[in-house]
Amino acid sequence: MTCQEAIAILADYLEMALTPSVLEELERHFAGCEPCRAYLATYKKTRDLAAAANRVEMPEEMKRRLREFLLEQLRQNG
Ligand SMILES: [Zn+2]
Repeated sequence: MTCQEAIAILADYLEMALTPSVLEELERHFAGCEPCRAYLATYKKTRDLAAAANRVEMPEEMKRRLREFLLEQLRQNG
């Protein structure tokens, strides 16, 4: 497997969408290819950060609104 081939299927790798034989080939390539390991690490980190940002946005906003609502209730009743 070449670096181009490895990088082309990186997204599938992270989605666990590769067949076992392709997965094995890819992992063998990573084992012997430092640049691809570095690329994989960067790709993963970027993806995880993006995923985390999307995940926390709504709940944080909802929590903030809920807190504001509760404080408003307390002010009115207190
Ligand atoms: Zn490579």
